[in-house]
Amino acid sequence: MDPVIGIDLGTTYSAVATLDSGRPLLIPSRAGARLTPSVVGFTAMGERVVGERAQILGDEAPDRVAPATKRFIGKRWSQGLEKAARAVVPYPVLSGPQGEVRIRVAGRVMPLTQVSAMLLGELKLDAEAHFGRPVSKAVITVPANFDEGQRQATREAARIAGLEVLRLLNEPTAAAMAYGLVNSFQGRALVFDLGGGTFDVSVLEMENGVYEVKATGGDPQLGGDDFDARIVQWLVAQVPDLHREAVMKDRVSMQRLRYAAERAKRTLSDQVEAFISVGELGDHQEGAPERYCQLDTALTRDFFQTLAEPLTTRCIDVCRSVLDEAKLTPGDIEAVMLVGGMTRMPLVRQLVTQLFGRQPVTGVNPDEAVALGAAVHAAELVSRQGQTLLIDVATHTMSVGVLGGTVRKLIARNSPVPATARETFLPGRTGQTQARIPVFQGESEFADECTKLGEVVLTDINVVNRAEVPIEVTFELSNEGTLSVRAVDTTTGMAEAIRIEARTTLSTTEVDSLSQEQAAYSQQQAEKDKVLAISTFPRVLDKAERLVRLLEKSAEENPSPEADSAVGQVKALLAQGRVAVKLGDTAQMAEVTRLLERLVALT
Ligand code: AMP
Repeated sequence: MDPVIGIDLGTTYSAVATLDSGRPLLIPSRAGARLTPSVVGFTAMGERVVGERAQILGDEAPDRVAPATKRFIGKRWSQGLEKAARAVVPYPVLSGPQGEVRIRVAGRVMPLTQVSAMLLGELKLDAEAHFGRPVSKAVITVPANFDEGQRQATREAARIAGLEVLRLLNEPTAAAMAYGLVNSFQGRALVFDLGGGTFDVSVLEMENGVYEVKATGGDPQLGGDDFDARIVQWLVAQVPDLHREAVMKDRVSMQRLRYAAERAKRTLSDQVEAFISVGELGDHQEGAPERYCQLDTALTRDFFQTLAEPLTTRCIDVCRSVLDEAKLTPGDIEAVMLVGGMTRMPLVRQLVTQLFGRQPVTGVNPDEAVALGAAVHAAELVSRQGQTLLIDVATHTMSVGVLGGTVRKLIARNSPVPATARETFLPGRTGQTQARIPVFQGESEFADECTKLGEVVLTDINVVNRAEVPIEVTFELSNEGTLSVRAVDTTTGMAEAIRIEARTTLSTTEVDSLSQEQAAYSQQQAEKDKVLAISTFPRVLDKAERLVRLLEKSAEENPSPEADSAVGQVKALLAQGRVAVKLGDTAQMAEVTRLLERLVALT
């Protein structure tokens, strides 16, 4: 069977995993790390760097890297968005031809789906190096509160990266699947997922492999970056008056402060005080080093908790409201699962423990749970063995715009998906020949406070009398949150349908050309990886030979059928490995390496 993977495309870190002999397994990056920073950059020579190398480049040259782009993916550009972006990211956000967000990094203007595609492409290459062969099928996770546009953009990024999306899966649901499998947990669970840019909460019932989401909610504008921004504000207030304005206007200085703030925040998860030292603060446009200043200060955990209190309070409020929607109380929850790097903050753990009266469950790394769960689901989708069943809910209310600027709700938030709803509407005015049915997503009663997803237009209708032309509108929401809308003129049977899903942010031509660019890059990298795999494999065989000698010796000293079998297994792998070398078969080499690692872990 072709390998399949689960990808957690996070705001700050991403991860890729697979199912290995029934257990979810995180695939390390080719650089050997478990997580890949979600950062893309370009060196002064124009070379693309992704992940850790981009993060390192960002320390030196913040204007050459693009971190946290997931914050803006699938959104429309607005002045408000631009202003908000200034507070959290080092790059300018611009409007593309369709009003979509693009960014300028290292002098190039890029669509955000291209940036995400570069990250996905890197994870795909990591998985391919792990398996020694191409990988094209993936489950990709998204925050539960991602709307249609954001989900669509994620799919577009996958297309550019050459990945077939088996399904987009909500992050908290994915995490619950990983915790459920690893801890063999059954019962009612709450997933508290505080990442770099978003906050999601889901309540699930987990029973015999059935994962039923009861309610989900969150805050799409609340994440670790906001905690960093609070520290940055406090740091800026300490910059000497003479320099403060220049520092605040300078993107490079602000990014330096952001990096320092993030590091201090992490330190404060383990220690009670963090020392912060940031140099070269000033106007980098003018480039006047003699006017730069230096900031040295210390932040205590207590004071950071005071700075962060409005944010942690918001997290707890969201938990309460999701519990209300699920008609449950904190006491009804039997397991609290923490996901996302920010849940390492002691205050967050403390508040969660207080609210639920129990310690969060352990057993799965909060940074890895989402990717591991995505891998579990990906394996289920291709094998269809029926070991797990997922019943998810609509994460937003879907409505039709009606007269008076209000909306009529057809599918309510937290209804189980897939869902179908049908309602009959009477078009506006007598004499009208066209009916427009606008479709909205959002929780407000008012259309202008919801997001418009699109509209269905029925032409050639003849309204002599309003009551005579009833139009039946049907909404179908798929199990991954994609909406299709159909409208029928019930007098003539004429129908129009839109698949809201069909909306893409970029033109097909641009998507095609970006896909080609990405494919060419991936091919080059894959060839380099192949050469590397072939040149390093002899070391694996050396190790296997040493292992055979060791096992033979111990079998001589303590003879047993098990000892003989261990020797036989390693010898067989060794033989398989030698054949792989002869054939230059990297898939075989990868398989031998994996099996050997597993044997070593067992012995
Ligand atoms: P995620 O999107 O799940 O990768 O979460 C990343 C967020 O978690 C970022 O804002 C990180 O700064 C934050 N984070 C990671 N590790 C820690 C830590 N040890 N203490 C506090 N925050 C952390």
